[in-house]
Amino acid sequence: MRAALPDLAARAASVAGSPVRDILALTARPEVISFAGGLPAAELFDAEAIRAAFDRVLAESPREALQYSTTEGDPGLRSATAARLTARGLPTDPDELLVTSGSQQALSLLATALLEPGDVVLVENPTYLAALQCFSFAGARIVSVPSDGDGLDPAALDELVERERPKFLYTIPTFQNPTGRTLPAERRRAVAEIAERRGLWIVEDDPYGELRYAGESVPWIASRPEAADRTVLLGSFSKIMTPGLRLGWLRAPAVLRRACVIAKQAADLHTPTVTQMAVARYLADTDLDAHLTLVRDAYGERRDALLAGLGDALPEGSRWNRPEGGMFVWASLPEGYDATERLRVAVEHDVAYVPGAPFYPGEPDPTTMRLSFVTHTPDEIAEGLRRLAKALH
Ligand code: PMP
Repeated sequence: MRAALPDLAARAASVAGSPVRDILALTARPEVISFAGGLPAAELFDAEAIRAAFDRVLAESPREALQYSTTEGDPGLRSATAARLTARGLPTDPDELLVTSGSQQALSLLATALLEPGDVVLVENPTYLAALQCFSFAGARIVSVPSDGDGLDPAALDELVERERPKFLYTIPTFQNPTGRTLPAERRRAVAEIAERRGLWIVEDDPYGELRYAGESVPWIASRPEAADRTVLLGSFSKIMTPGLRLGWLRAPAVLRRACVIAKQAADLHTPTVTQMAVARYLADTDLDAHLTLVRDAYGERRDALLAGLGDALPEGSRWNRPEGGMFVWASLPEGYDATERLRVAVEHDVAYVPGAPFYPGEPDPTTMRLSFVTHTPDEIAEGLRRLAKALH
């Protein structure tokens, strides 16, 4: 007799995986040109210099590099990261930073530190899928803030904060995932003022800000004096170095940072010591900004290649934006098209994208799609668009 096992937690059953994952699994075939995954271009990884940094750390400080270390993170990495933030206009002390295992972990730590079941979290509409999953696991009620081509609408945010009393606003103000949108400076100021006036944490997630190909950079919400004591800024080495490092950081006011440190102790004690030390070594020995210039040049060309061909690839009446940076273009097909249904046909033509629907916390717009332009060369992008045209017409 084998007794039945106890049930999984309700949350394990209630948070769905990505509904398009099965279709996208088919896109791993080498012949598929994929605009789907947000995968940085692997041929542009600075692999040699990263290998040299790991070599040096393991040769010079093996006992330290292979040992347990502090939860807050490697002092050298925190200093280098603080210096980069300071140079970009946000004066930062290394002690204000907590190193995380990717910025994805920062989202989990913040959910642990801030959310009770039933608490409201405000998000852009649409927003990053894995953030929705993370907040749902914490039992949050997710409410979307009406958004337009420039991002979230501050007047609507103000009303929602008054009505819903949310714990925090989760926002990706620069080159947002999935839309590529950037929130203009005036709206950032308005968001900071709302947080000051109404009492609200802001989680400002910025993995893409350094991938700008045109236009002027817009200051972080975290740098607004109104919101300095209530904004958490998240950053990541995934898009500027490589995602396999699983290295990110959060910059938070002391009270919230301490709560995140304790949550991280419970989650994984600390981010791998050797990785942190190797990236600190890399930042000391290598000019990341020079490398980033190469990456930006390549990605900028790829963005232009996608934008140049989209008009012929999408059916008449489709619309799309022209982001100044990041990895994604957001498009909507004409009324009546369903981007999720069409994905099957696209995959039969060896081309893929991500339908927009899963990124909406509420009622989705079925005509939308996210197109990532960074993974393939301009020639491959052009071929991918020819296939997309056949699939969609
Ligand atoms: N936030 C956003 C908006 C993202 O798009 C991603 C990755 N696609 C992450 C966080 C997580 O990135 P990582 O954990 O690799 O830093």
